[in-house]
This record gives sequence, structure tokens and C-alpha cells, in this order.
Amino acid sequence: MKKKILIVLSIFLLAFFLSGLYIIITIENTTSSLDRLIQLHQIEILRERLLIHIERVQADIGLKGTPHARSTDNILTNLRNMDNMAGTCFDCHHSGEVRERLNDLSNHVKRYKEAVSMALTVRSNPSMSETEEASAFRIGNSLITKVNNMITMTSNKLELKTQSTIREIEKTKRMLSILIITGTLLTAGMAFLFLRSMIKPVNLILEATRRVKGGDLGYRIEGLRDEFGEVATSFNEMGKSLKEYMQKIEESEKRYRLLFEKAGDAIFILDAEGENAGKIVAANQAAAEMYGYTIDELLSLRITDLDTPEAAKEAPARINRVRKGEWIKAEINHLKKDGTVFPVEISAGLLEVGDKKYILAIDRDITERKLAEETLQRAEQMKIVGELAAGLAHEIKNPLAGIKASMEVLSEEANFSEEDRNVLLKVINEIRRIESLLKELLNFARPPKPRFSITDINTILDKAMTLSLQNDHLSSNELKRIKIVKDLDSLIPQTMADPMQMQQVFLNILLNASEAMPEGGTLTVKTAYDELLNSIKIKISDTGRGIDEEMIDKIFKPFFTTKPKGTGLGLSISKRLIEQHRGSISVENNSGGGATFMIDLPVRYVEVQAI
Ligand code: ADP
Repeated sequence: MKKKILIVLSIFLLAFFLSGLYIIITIENTTSSLDRLIQLHQIEILRERLLIHIERVQADIGLKGTPHARSTDNILTNLRNMDNMAGTCFDCHHSGEVRERLNDLSNHVKRYKEAVSMALTVRSNPSMSETEEASAFRIGNSLITKVNNMITMTSNKLELKTQSTIREIEKTKRMLSILIITGTLLTAGMAFLFLRSMIKPVNLILEATRRVKGGDLGYRIEGLRDEFGEVATSFNEMGKSLKEYMQKIEESEKRYRLLFEKAGDAIFILDAEGENAGKIVAANQAAAEMYGYTIDELLSLRITDLDTPEAAKEAPARINRVRKGEWIKAEINHLKKDGTVFPVEISAGLLEVGDKKYILAIDRDITERKLAEETLQRAEQMKIVGELAAGLAHEIKNPLAGIKASMEVLSEEANFSEEDRNVLLKVINEIRRIESLLKELLNFARPPKPRFSITDINTILDKAMTLSLQNDHLSSNELKRIKIVKDLDSLIPQTMADPMQMQQVFLNILLNASEAMPEGGTLTVKTAYDELLNSIKIKISDTGRGIDEEMIDKIFKPFFTTKPKGTGLGLSISKRLIEQHRGSISVENNSGGGATFMIDLPVRYVEVQAI
């Protein structure tokens, strides 16, 4: 491009220089011709004046001796003027041929002057004077003829010269016009070409800028050279970097969006300024699920709409602290759309996007954590209660054994009436119940460690069913009417378990089920193997009265019982034993009545550390 501009400028300069030179030379020539023409005109004028002076002297000579004759002084003055004029005329010319003719004329004038002087001086002799006058007159006439000839000759020459000068001037005018027109056209043409060569790449670059501005970051400029080529290369590189940069931003945005959308915690972006402070401007799916609203519904709410009335009172203070730049954390109660109150841990901080301020709030549902904390707390309490109970049981056990032994001895006394003996036997029975309760209490407070061995769960279940049916607590009525359905999967693998503890668990569930069907019913025992999870599933269902919904969460808690003579320890001990085997136990009511207990026992081939 630079080279192009330099070449164009050089051509322009050369053209201007040559045109200027030509114009100067032409004008120089024309002015010289005009100069010469003016000179010739001046000579013409001088000769004509000379002619007038000669004619005036000739008239003086002609009038001599007449009443109109002028004085001699007047004649002499005219003669002198003629002479001066002749002198002026002869001063001008120096060229060969002209000078020769002028010398001849000068001599002629001289002779005429002498002849006139002579005619004026011989006044005393009239005949001689006439002769001299005639001679002077003749010389004068021939001088007039000569001057006239010269004037005619000069006039012709002048005419020719004038014609040629006019032609020359016309030619110069034409040439100048051509030069000016050509120069203007050439300049316009060159300027057009030059501009076109500039406009095309500028347009290409402009188009590329528009495309990039419109988001087409892959657009590239092709086919430009020189400086524009360099601009295009830089532009293309800029577009490439911009694209890479945008890709990085998009990826990062995608990552953050994914994080925002898929996060397990509820994430809100709130307005932080003015009247709208606290207004929800963005919320993720987890937020919608946590609060039971759709995302669109959440966007029409303020964060305080999710607070309980007590929590809402504190909200302005919390928002202010965040606006001051504090990152806050708090545990408060929030409300779901259906009015359910649940505990959340909120953490919130200021988020600045450009010059706009927002609040980023993350809510975590801590219901489970709270429950776990409560459970742990209760477990701790239970442990203390259990240990207390165990201590008490231990202390009561020995005196009770003594009382029981004494009562048994007394009951065998022969002199007791039958009635008294029955009373004693009742007391012994009650003592046995207390002993069994104490045993369970001790079992609960200090559960024995499992003794793991390879165990077949189906066999243990079979044994437990047989034992449960022999249980003397169950009335013969119940036993008669209970139908047992066995659906045991023979393919379930053996697993590492404590057979005694497993039996205790199954027995407890089976006895509870039997007791739940005082009028009889069906007891279904089912086992299956879950290959995917590698666990054994045991289901024990009855068709009894089922469990009240408000109690279903409590039945695994220690000392919860609905039976007049129950201890409320059976299921809590069972749960603990199952958990020691890394399994889980749960219960649900059957749709057609009764309850089903479900046990999940992971299959293990090695002993596990009890928990
Ligand atoms: P206990 O048998 O001494 O009451 P458990 O811990 O074994 O203690 O049982 C707790 C309570 O769970 C029982 O009192 C009873 O209300 C309820 N329960 C257990 N099994 C069943 C069942 N199959 N059907 C209905 N209720 C049951």
C-alpha cells in the first residue's frame, strides 16, 4: 500500500513538474514574441513620426517665399526635431540588414538636413536660393519615399509577425486548456482508482467488524494484501482469540450454570438495592423442589415470603448485613408452599455483577441433620437411661432371684391352702416376668457383640417360625387360626451373620405379628436375593390391625409399646442388631390391612466390624 501511494505521488509530481515546465517555456516564448511585436510597433510609430517631421520641413520649404511661410527659426526647430527623431529611430536597431538600411536612411536624412541648411543660408542670392530649395525639396521627397517604403515594409512584416504571434498565443491557450483538462481528468481518474483501491478493503474490514459484532466470531477476512493484509491478519487473529475467549467464558458459564441448576442446595439470587431488596431474581430447580413452588412462582416472590413470621422479622437486618459486605450464616425456619415449616441453614453474601449488586443466598434443608442430631441426642440419653436401667436391673436381679427362690419353696409348703398356693404361684409368675424384663433391659443397655459365622438365613427363619408357634405367650386361639405362608428363595446365598441374634430379631417380629392377629390371620414370610445390591431381602407380613400412622415412626424407639404387658424394647433391640450387621429394617402398613416388616441384609463373606 505504502509503495502504491509513493508511486502514485511520484507520477503526480512528475506530471506536475513537466506540465509546469512546459507552461513556463510556452509562456516565455509567447511573451518574447509579444515583446518583439511591441518593439516593431514602436519602430513603426517612430518612423511615422519621422515621416511627419520630414513632411513638416518639406512644407516649410514649399511655403517659403509665400505669405504663409514660417519663420526661419520655426523651420530650424522643425529640422532639429526631425533630426532628433531620426536619431531616436536609429538608436533602436542593430541587426545587419536593418542597420544597413538605417545607415542609408541616416545618410539620406543628413544630406537632406545639409540641403535644407544650405537653402536657408543662401538667402542673399535668390536664384541660388531657389536652386538649393529645389534640391532640398527633391532630397526631402526621396527621403519621404524611402521612409514610406520602409514603413510599408515594416507594416507587412509587422502584420506577419502579429499573425504568427496571435497563432502562437492561440496554440498556447489550446495547449494550456488541454493540459488543464487532461490534468484534471487524470487527477480525478487516479483519485478514483486510488479511492477504489482503498474503499474495497475498508468495506471488507467494515463488513467483518459488523459480522463479529453480530456474534459471528468465526468470520475471517480473506484476499487482502499489503498494509490492509496486515490489518486483516491482525483482525483474524483478534477474531480467533475472541472466539477462544468466548468459548472459555461459555464453558465456564455452562459449568457455573450446571452447578447452579444441579446443585442439591437451593440457590437464590436476590436484588440487593432499593425497594426491591430481597426480591428473588433467579432460583434453581433445587429451590423450587425444596419450597414446593415452580421457578416462575419463586421469581414473583421476595425471600421473606419463604420465612416464617418470626424469621421474617429478622430478614431486613440480615439483608443489611449482607449489603455491608458480610457473608452471613444462620439456621432459621422456612415455609414451604403448603405451609410446612422446616429448618434451613442459610448462607448469603454480596454478589456484584458490573455495577449492580445482588445477594447470593444458599439454603440447605437441614431437617435430616436436625433429626439425626435429635436421634443422636436421644441415643445419648437412652444410653444413660440404659446404663442406669442396667445398673438397677443388676442390683434388683439378685434380691429378686432370692425372693423367687423363697416363694417357690413356700409354694411347696403342704399346709398352705390351694387358694394361698395359687396366690404364691401368681407372685412367682410376676417375678419371672420382672426377671425377663430385667434380662431385656440388660440386653438393651449392654448388647452382646455378634458372633459371626456363615449363616443360612432361610434356615434361621424356619427355626424362628417353629419357635414362635411354640411360644407359650400366644393363646391357643391365635395359634389355631394363624396361617403361615412361606415364600423362601432357595437361591439366596449364605452370609456372615450371628445366627442367635438373627433368630432373636425374626422371633421378635414373628411374635409381634402373631400378637397383632388375636383373631388369627395370615403370616407371610418371604426371602429374596437382590443381585444388583448383593443383599438379602426379608419380608414378614401379617394381616393384623396394622400400626397407627402417628405411631409408625416411634415403634423402633426404646420403651415404645402399646401392649399392657409390653416392654417396648423388642424392636429397638432388633434394629440395633440388624444395624450391627450393616443392614436396615423398616415397616409399612399393608394396603389391605396389617403390617409388613422389611429387612435388608448385605451379603458378606467376611466378618464385619460391628457398629
Ligand atoms: P413390645 O412388643 O414389648 O410392645 P416392641 O418393640 O416389640 O415392644 O413393639 C413395639 C410396638 O410396636 C408394639 O407395642 C406394637 O404397638 C407395635 N407393633 C410391633 N409389631 C406390630 C405388628 N406386626 N402389628 C401392629 N403393631 C405392631
